[in-house]
Amino acid sequence: MPTIDTIPEDVYKLFDPNKGHEPSEENLNEFAENIKTLLRQRLAKREPIDNPLRFSSLGRPDRQLWYMAKKYPSEELSAKTYFKFLYGDIIEQMILFLVKEAGHTVEHEQGEVSVDGVQGHIDAVIDGVVVDVKSASPIGYTKFVKQEVTTNDTFGYAQQLAGYAQVLTPDERAAWLAFNKVNGDICISPLSSSIIKDYPVHDRITHLKAVIASDTPPLRCYPDEEDGKSGNRKLATGCSYCAYKHTCWPELRTFVYSNGPRYLTKVVRVPDVYEVRTGEAEPPPA
Ligand code: SF4
Repeated sequence: MPTIDTIPEDVYKLFDPNKGHEPSEENLNEFAENIKTLLRQRLAKREPIDNPLRFSSLGRPDRQLWYMAKKYPSEELSAKTYFKFLYGDIIEQMILFLVKEAGHTVEHEQGEVSVDGVQGHIDAVIDGVVVDVKSASPIGYTKFVKQEVTTNDTFGYAQQLAGYAQVLTPDERAAWLAFNKVNGDICISPLSSSIIKDYPVHDRITHLKAVIASDTPPLRCYPDEEDGKSGNRKLATGCSYCAYKHTCWPELRTFVYSNGPRYLTKVVRVPDVYEVRTGEAEPPPA
């Protein structure tokens, strides 16, 4: 009987050239339908978000959510970013298809979860475990392999998954099923039931409702950091990904290094690289 922990080896076995594998028609059709739905959704006109409080935003820092709720103008996502979202979603569908083909039980795909008026959709319950599927860059993937998501959680993944698990499978573990987009590695990164308890979903929702109701923005989520020994200071990683960084840090200056943009909150020594001027389109964070 396969369990969630055997997913990597079971999926790789499908590709054994000496055996071959004939996919189930039902799974193929379901996969094709899911891809069609994804393409329609991702290419459709984007409607403004009325209520920012969703399961996927429960792990966002307070101040970011406050800006979102108060409808402060945010940075526009580029076409490339939307494209990346699309193929990330397609990869995740492919993983779920392969997991089914490998003999695992996949249930409640895109199942709706609702708590205290906050809604979300899980990726799936696999072999009885609530699972969030993540396609990741090599650096992002390392966090899953080393089980460091909870200690370095820029995107609030733990709160989201813990919230789903508390509702659907109380006192049970949950897991990320992560995939390295570059080299094809797959891993199961568990979130234990004891850690899940550290993210009480009702408390978080109550807190965020109070944050959103307030007319005053919460304190900044992360302090800025030293940028080497130059005396310059730069945004923390969490801020560099935030769509409100120019509102939150009005004096921010953007310099384009070979490894991506760097956002400086204080410039003592002007970097010897290109600076993005106000109003100019910015490259995405590295
Ligand atoms: S820029 Fe940083 S501090 Fe400001 S809202 Fe975004 S994450 Fe929070």
